[in-house]
Amino acid sequence: MSDVRNVIIIGSGPAGYTAALYTARASLKPLVFEGAVSAGGALMNTTDVENFPGFRDGIMGPDLMDNMRAQAERFGAELIPDDVVSVDLTGEIKTVTDTVGTVHRAKAVIITTGSQHRKLGLPNEDALSGRGVSWCATCDGFFFKDQDIAVVGGGDTAMEEATFLSRFAKSVTIVHRRDTLRASKAMQERAFADPKIRFAWDSEVATVHGEQKLSGLTLRDTKTSETSELPVTGLFIAVGHDPRTELFKGQLELDDEGYLKVDAPSTRTNLAGVFAAGDVVDHTYRQAITAAGTGCSAALDAERFLAALS
Ligand code: FAD
Repeated sequence: MSDVRNVIIIGSGPAGYTAALYTARASLKPLVFEGAVSAGGALMNTTDVENFPGFRDGIMGPDLMDNMRAQAERFGAELIPDDVVSVDLTGEIKTVTDTVGTVHRAKAVIITTGSQHRKLGLPNEDALSGRGVSWCATCDGFFFKDQDIAVVGGGDTAMEEATFLSRFAKSVTIVHRRDTLRASKAMQERAFADPKIRFAWDSEVATVHGEQKLSGLTLRDTKTSETSELPVTGLFIAVGHDPRTELFKGQLELDDEGYLKVDAPSTRTNLAGVFAAGDVVDHTYRQAITAAGTGCSAALDAERFLAALS
């Protein structure tokens, strides 16, 4: 079957491009579906990335992704700026269908479709992403030294982000829609005990203010609808993530939160020849470097799988 590829990679964030680089350098001629509107993945929506090793002075997110893309292409990865709309991963030959209905076939598939952070759905939110609005305290906390910031959410992630951010910030206000938290008792107690953390209970963000940079928030009381101003220069949104696994339901095993399950520390899924890496698997670390690292592992796992077939 001459039209059967060695490997197809679905997704083009740090995990996908790293898997592409490694499989291309192993002469496997990977075909990479980059996505129709979001080639380059989550880092295309940010500005400075200061924690990806090798860039002493930091690098802009889109520049980092352009470099990864060009590096994979240089070794022969074939990149297609399109979405995969359906897959059949169950047989020895896997099929992947694109938006024009073309069916692509391969012996191995690497899934790196990432996860989507939930948004508040407010007009200015995207425009100020990387300009005061963030979804990742580990990534961006350092930029907010001695500033007043807000964290939205009431779960473990929100408490973890707030206690981490209080190391840098002058103050952290946790904005929560209810008057009790969903977070575990231990996480709540840590937040309550932190002198820099305050709570805006029964509150939601009504407006995100700022032109080039975030300048403040208008909060709305969820019981009385009264509004108040919160002058902050940082807003961390911690209301959850949705792994992009819709395509794989019914074929691949998912965990309780909908992430792909792998036989860690390998990247093998429950189906032979199907590997998964990056944020579509990981709800713990969610960093560009960890996504790239597991993308490398997936490429090596796929390479070994293919070698064993021949
Ligand atoms: P993603 O980067 O999410 O890429 C997934 C890719 O899959 C996308 O290209 C998408 O188009 C594609 N895709 C999805 N479905 C399909 C489909 N059906 N067909 C084809 N393609 C598909 N991390 C850091 O280490 N440092 C930072 O400073 C940092 N800043 C961040 C700032 C922001 C605003 C955000 C949102 C995240 C930030 N992160 C940062 C986290 C980091 O971006 C992620 O951990 C990382 O991008 C995950 O990589 P990934 O390859 O798993 O997935």
